[in-house]
Amino acid sequence: MADQNCTHNCSTCSSGCSARDLKFHLNPKSTVRHVIGIVSGKGGVGKSLVTSLLAAKTAKKGLRAAVLDADITGPSIPTAFGTNGERVYCDENGLIFPETTPSGIQLMSMNFLLKNENDPVLWRGSMINSIVKKFWEEVFWDNVDYMFVDMPPGTGDVPLTVFQSLPLDGIIIVTSPQELVRVIVEKAVKMAQTMKIPVYGLIENMSYVQCPDCSKKIYLFGESHAPQISQEFHLPLLAQIPIAPKTAQAVDKGQVETLEAEFLDAALKIVQG
Ligand code: ADP
Ligand code: MG
Repeated sequence: MADQNCTHNCSTCSSGCSARDLKFHLNPKSTVRHVIGIVSGKGGVGKSLVTSLLAAKTAKKGLRAAVLDADITGPSIPTAFGTNGERVYCDENGLIFPETTPSGIQLMSMNFLLKNENDPVLWRGSMINSIVKKFWEEVFWDNVDYMFVDMPPGTGDVPLTVFQSLPLDGIIIVTSPQELVRVIVEKAVKMAQTMKIPVYGLIENMSYVQCPDCSKKIYLFGESHAPQISQEFHLPLLAQIPIAPKTAQAVDKGQVETLEAEFLDAALKIVQG
């Protein structure tokens, strides 16, 4: 675990923390001030949506945002930002320049490395781990205030690497009402505690649908357990996000940056103060 004086750059840091050996070393040209991991129990709960929206809202505040997409299960991050990484390039010294979105978000995704984004990914965990290392050590992250890491679902090999090797300030757990939320939260919290990484709180996605005529909230999956679970684990419930056609459409069109997503204001405040 990094200590309080951690500068997030082991090559220049003098804190001498015990985590130094396992940590990846940020490229000396890069600056990344804060790193926040977004985790979930399974895929399809909206982890990539939350990651993209947090980055988009951070950029709207005038801060420099980045997304490191460590989830290989689908091209959700490239899709949400409407890019295939066309502007990613490597200079003659081997320094990799990330994609930049219209609002200036720096983006690296494993999916940029696939020849065809529809190909199945036949990579082993160890290969994915080495890509995360590459993205941390060989990419030029230009003066980033907040980097959001879209983690693969679950508590397997790759999340473990990210927890151990990147200087995470904390994680956010994304769940949906259809899941066995208690089990997922418990696993994520235990993993974070073992690595002494703070958990900012819980975000429940797809909590309800709001009627466009009368604004009534319809809880499609019954009563939410999120408030109860968040109390049980002493975690703030950072947001309950409605299912909204405009959200799905913006993501499908690659225009996630156009969404206001006021429902994440409180979460951002807790993360960024
Ligand atoms: P994950 O990263 O957890 O696998 P995604 O963020 O990719 O999940 O979400 C899965 C799909 O559901 C995406 O197409 C996304 O746009 C859509 N989606 C997620 N949350 C919402 C929401 N609240 N309203 C509408 N569509 C949503
Ligand atoms: Mg995803």
